[in-house]
Amino acid sequence: MTTVLTPASPLTAADRCDRCGAQAYVRVVLLSGGELLFCAHHGRKFEPELKKIAAEIQDETERLTVPASASEEER
Ligand SMILES: [Zn+2]
Repeated sequence: MTTVLTPASPLTAADRCDRCGAQAYVRVVLLSGGELLFCAHHGRKFEPELKKIAAEIQDETERLTVPASASEEER
Protein backbone atom coordinates (compact mmCIF):
# COMPACT_ATOMS: atom_id res chain seq x y z
CA MET A 1 0.00 0.00 0.00
CA THR A 2 1.43 3.33 -1.00
CA THR A 3 0.88 6.58 0.75
CA VAL A 4 -0.36 9.29 -1.54
CA LEU A 5 0.11 12.79 -0.32
CA THR A 6 -2.91 14.79 -1.22
CA PRO A 7 -2.01 18.32 -2.20
CA ALA A 8 -2.54 20.50 0.80
CA SER A 9 -4.52 23.65 0.36
CA PRO A 10 -2.29 26.58 -0.55
CA LEU A 11 -1.39 29.03 2.13
CA THR A 12 -3.27 32.30 2.05
CA ALA A 13 -2.81 35.79 3.40
CA ALA A 14 -4.94 34.70 6.34
CA ASP A 15 -2.33 32.16 7.41
CA ARG A 16 0.05 33.71 9.90
CA CYS A 17 3.44 32.78 11.28
CA ASP A 18 3.13 31.24 14.74
CA ARG A 19 6.20 33.17 15.87
CA CYS A 20 5.85 36.69 14.55
CA GLY A 21 2.44 37.00 12.93
CA ALA A 22 3.76 37.72 9.46
CA GLN A 23 2.15 36.03 6.49
CA ALA A 24 2.95 32.34 6.51
CA TYR A 25 4.73 30.69 3.62
CA VAL A 26 5.67 27.43 5.28
CA ARG A 27 3.24 24.89 6.68
CA VAL A 28 4.61 22.09 8.80
CA VAL A 29 2.52 19.01 9.45
CA LEU A 30 3.84 17.34 12.56
CA LEU A 31 4.23 13.62 13.07
CA SER A 32 2.01 14.09 16.10
CA GLY A 33 -0.73 15.39 13.83
CA GLY A 34 -0.46 19.06 14.67
CA GLU A 35 0.28 21.83 12.27
CA LEU A 36 2.57 24.83 12.44
CA LEU A 37 2.78 27.87 10.23
CA PHE A 38 5.86 29.98 9.68
CA CYS A 39 6.84 32.96 7.60
CA ALA A 40 9.74 32.54 5.18
CA HIS A 41 12.16 33.88 7.77
CA HIS A 42 11.15 31.58 10.59
CA GLY A 43 10.55 28.63 8.27
CA ARG A 44 14.16 28.85 7.24
CA LYS A 45 15.38 29.47 10.76
CA PHE A 46 13.64 26.44 12.25
CA GLU A 47 13.97 24.17 9.24
CA PRO A 48 16.65 21.88 10.75
CA GLU A 49 14.53 21.38 13.86
CA LEU A 50 11.30 21.01 11.95
CA LYS A 51 12.67 18.29 9.73
CA LYS A 52 13.08 16.12 12.82
CA ILE A 53 9.46 16.39 13.86
CA ALA A 54 7.63 17.03 10.61
CA ALA A 55 5.65 14.50 8.63
CA GLU A 56 5.47 16.99 5.80
CA ILE A 57 6.76 20.46 5.09
CA GLN A 58 4.88 22.57 2.61
CA ASP A 59 7.25 25.27 1.49
CA GLU A 60 5.76 28.09 -0.54
CA THR A 61 8.56 30.55 0.04
CA GLU A 62 9.34 30.56 -3.66
CA ARG A 63 6.10 32.44 -4.17
CA LEU A 64 7.82 35.42 -2.58
CA THR A 65 9.94 35.79 -5.69
CA VAL A 66 7.05 35.35 -8.11
CA PRO A 67 5.30 38.43 -9.50
CA ALA A 68 2.18 39.25 -7.53
CA SER A 69 -0.08 38.77 -10.53
CA ALA A 70 -0.69 35.16 -9.50
CA SER A 71 -2.05 36.13 -6.12
CA GLU A 72 -4.62 38.83 -6.66
CA GLU A 73 -6.30 39.39 -3.36
CA GLU A 74 -9.18 41.53 -4.56
CA ARG A 75 -12.27 39.36 -4.46
ZN1 LIG B 1 7.84 34.59 11.48
